Amino acid sequence: MIVIFFGPPGAGKGTQASRISEVLEVPQIATGDIFRGKSKENSQLGRKVKGFMEKGQLIPDEIVNEVVRERISKRDCKKGFILDGYPRTIDQAIYLDKALKDMGKEITAVIYLEVNEDEIVKRLSYRRTCNKCGAIYHLIFNPPRVSKVCDRCGGKLYQRKDDREEVIRERIGVYKEKTEPLLRFYHERGKLFKVNGNREIDDVAKEIMDILETVKKGDV
Ligand code: ADP
Ligand code: ADP
Ligand code: ZN
Repeated sequence: MIVIFFGPPGAGKGTQASRISEVLEVPQIATGDIFRGKSKENSQLGRKVKGFMEKGQLIPDEIVNEVVRERISKRDCKKGFILDGYPRTIDQAIYLDKALKDMGKEITAVIYLEVNEDEIVKRLSYRRTCNKCGAIYHLIFNPPRVSKVCDRCGGKLYQRKDDREEVIRERIGVYKEKTEPLLRFYHERGKLFKVNGNREIDDVAKEIMDILETVKKGDV
């Protein structure tokens, strides 16, 4: 199973990918998380990556592609994996197709979480993330049991630097320009499954599981 979670920033990709990863017992590969980790390193790459992320711009394809190729070649990806936040450009998608082909694999499904823009801004403005395990919360829609503390690991919750109004607007603009064209790319290849993401987290998760069951049985 190779599943891609696709959608605008704040659509719920990370939230859903984490659940589905537990159910399917395959790793969740979130490029945002990987590069947030790298941005803390005091290296040339770390500083470069940090600059792009804080401005809400995409990290160059060559850097992202190489990191993903290396990650999906690891042993834990043998049974499958979930991509969350990659690919985000046509060039990344073409690169991924070729990398998978070389490995004798192909994409199972691209799950497109469709969410309207007002909802995106509301979701990102109140998003909180665990600084230890990366778990995702929302102050209103999905709050932690104890204020500012992660339910899962006890880590501290923080607000991402790029989850502020002006950077959110920039990221939505980048999504529309560079990432949205991928919808057509995957639709033409028969891989795209559209899910209404404006609903409760549990309802969205159920629909995704139904889609993956159907695809697995080969009914699509
Ligand atoms: P993405 O990975 O697409 O940027 P996240 O999974 O981080 O999205 O979710 C963005 C914010 O919206 C988080 O605060 C999360 O708790 C919240 N969220 C996710 N799914 C839903 C949903 N179905 N309804 C309400 N809030 C949601
Ligand atoms: P979101 O949850 O809002 O969708 P992510 O955590 O996935 O955001 O990504 C945060 C930032 O990391 C992006 O704004 C971008 O700078 C960088 N990034 C993540 N994935 C990619 C990618 N596939 N290509 C280029 N940049 C990426
Ligand atoms: Zn945690």
